[in-house]
Amino acid sequence: MRKRFSADSYVQGILAGDRIMLGRAITVTESRLPEDKKLAAEILTRILPKTGKSVRIGITGIPGVGKSTFIEAFGEYLTLQGMRVAVLAIDPSSKKSGGAILGDKTRMEKLSHNVRAFIRPSATGLSLGGVARSTREAMLLCEAAGYEVILVETVGVGQSETLVKGMTDFFLLLMLAGAGDELQGIKKGIMEMVDAIAVNKADGENEKTANQAVSEYQNALHLFPAAESGFQAKVIACSGLYGKGMDTIWEMIGEYQKITKLNGFFLKNRQLQNADWMHDYIRQTLADLFYENAEVKAMLPAMENAVREEKLLPPQAANDLIDKFFKSQIFMNKS
Ligand code: GDP
Repeated sequence: MRKRFSADSYVQGILAGDRIMLGRAITVTESRLPEDKKLAAEILTRILPKTGKSVRIGITGIPGVGKSTFIEAFGEYLTLQGMRVAVLAIDPSSKKSGGAILGDKTRMEKLSHNVRAFIRPSATGLSLGGVARSTREAMLLCEAAGYEVILVETVGVGQSETLVKGMTDFFLLLMLAGAGDELQGIKKGIMEMVDAIAVNKADGENEKTANQAVSEYQNALHLFPAAESGFQAKVIACSGLYGKGMDTIWEMIGEYQKITKLNGFFLKNRQLQNADWMHDYIRQTLADLFYENAEVKAMLPAMENAVREEKLLPPQAANDLIDKFFKSQIFMNKS
């Protein structure tokens, strides 16, 4: 059994920058046990005044594009500049396979031994919405622990990039030269979301094609309407393996912050993200209550069968279940 500490111990540990207590506090926020939920809420409320001061960077790209190698190099670069860096992951595969795409602990070997870095793989056993919620909370805990740069990594598949975009200040897409946009799963939608594209593995024989790809993507980005942030999305070449381009990327993020803090977008975006966060939290909490409800659980298999066999229309089955849920709530509140 996991040892539970007092809210005080977690808060003091986090504020002192203790990585072990930080990790433990994140585990509390990931838990679905009622006593942990209460504890998590208390820890979060207490550390809240110390949050929000980092720059939150989302990083995405297909498996194999070099995300972990890049983050290792970028993290090393930032820590050498004296910064503290936290790496969090959102892995859409985490529910089924325990985080097969991103959650492997052997990734970022060097950075994981760096005292100025904190790496946390995607939570397992949660839905994508649940992972998003715990990542947001982990982000706050890391900020309170003094991490100035938060890197949120995700694989560019499904809805995870939208989630990451929705919780970060700056969104970076890693791409490969000559791999074909289709192959890289690049939908038009994601190009519209990015603040920068880094054409990765621009080293050795790849360098020339990478530079060509930079101009192609630059042209493609110019076709999009100007971003609301006031920052013109940029394309650069880099090599995570050789640590090339890390300074340019960090300078670019600095420039982004300067522009968006001056024109008010930085703050406005975070405020909007907070409102979205609240709505996501409501949806997630209601869904959890619903699916954890004993009467719903008992009724669900039969309803699923009835829907599969077309004996009942899905909306009708859903409404019956929702009715059951609300009636059980009323009954509970009366008793
Ligand atoms: P991820 O799946 O996106 O996290 O990709 P990885 O970081 O695991 O890298 C996938 C493969 O590409 C590995 O074999 C890396 O050694 C290689 N790789 C990663 N970055 C670079 C790079 O900048 N240049 C070259 N040439 N290879 C790289």
